[in-house]
Amino acid sequence: MIISFSRFAFSLALSLVVLALIAQPFSSLLQPIVASAQVHDQDFTIVVLSDTQNYSQSYPDIFKAQTQWIVRNREALNIVYVVHSGDIVNTASSTRQWENASAAMAILEDPLTTGLADGIPYGILPGNHDFPTTNYNAYFGVSRFSGRSYYGGHYGSDNDNNYGLFNAGGMDFIVVNVQYRPTGDILAWADALLDAHRDRRAIVVSHEILDADASFTFLGQAFYRTLKDNPNLFLMLCGHVHTEAWRMDAFGSYVIYTLLADYQDEPNGGNGWLRILEFSPRHNEIRVKTYSPTLDRYQTDADSQFTLPYRMRMTFYLPALLSRPGINSYVEANDQGIWS
Ligand SMILES: [Zn+2]
Repeated sequence: MIISFSRFAFSLALSLVVLALIAQPFSSLLQPIVASAQVHDQDFTIVVLSDTQNYSQSYPDIFKAQTQWIVRNREALNIVYVVHSGDIVNTASSTRQWENASAAMAILEDPLTTGLADGIPYGILPGNHDFPTTNYNAYFGVSRFSGRSYYGGHYGSDNDNNYGLFNAGGMDFIVVNVQYRPTGDILAWADALLDAHRDRRAIVVSHEILDADASFTFLGQAFYRTLKDNPNLFLMLCGHVHTEAWRMDAFGSYVIYTLLADYQDEPNGGNGWLRILEFSPRHNEIRVKTYSPTLDRYQTDADSQFTLPYRMRMTFYLPALLSRPGINSYVEANDQGIWS
């Protein structure tokens, strides 16, 4: 009895030694993963502006109040990127409207107030009201962005189609800003960009993609058809249609969300409403909120405030190494494959 117990104790001790030896490479593997998981835990925010055309024409102070609010809240909300989905002005030939838009967006670029040498990263693109894009390129051309570290580049000789790069929560992102009514060549350029940057999570912004009933417009269908095979694409943003709507498309093992927001029919040219997209890697979700700095109010109805599940957290690698297959659903659901 005693002998067999000591035998048991011996084999137990031996097993522990062997286990410790096996675990050794794992523990050294896990350290950087745990460290990066902490970086991933940091929430961050993308702010979306759309259809500012009435502000540029008649309510420039509301436009400025939006960008001033973004600067004031940059640190508190960890705002890492600002999107403008087009119709910057109402009348493309009016330099007065472009001056107003330029002054409002310049607030994001101030190194002193933002505390950032390149200002708060932002992307912009022409909507239908911004065509022809002569003035768009005079005010928001390549030269305005080319010195900024987040600016990725542009298609052709002007800034009608461009892209930005940023890092947040330990993740790399690309935002491709596509003009209203892109040609097939431009969509192919966007498609190639998503593929070339497949290690980055991708957002595509264009003026018109969704209709009021959340169906893809004819144009939106071309976007979805051309870009859906990029597993890093998770979000498309648009305006143009005077309402809010969103949809989710599952393609293979991943999901693409498309969000429409355009408040231009509200009083005062849109009442300052903007979109706040709060990314919470800890909860693997994007919280969409609608807020007006001039009213200091949130819209909380179902199409203005909602939460989208989106996988960001990397800690699933830890259970993936140690747990039985099938236990960790994160592994099966996959993380869009962009870590591979
Ligand atoms: Zn429009």
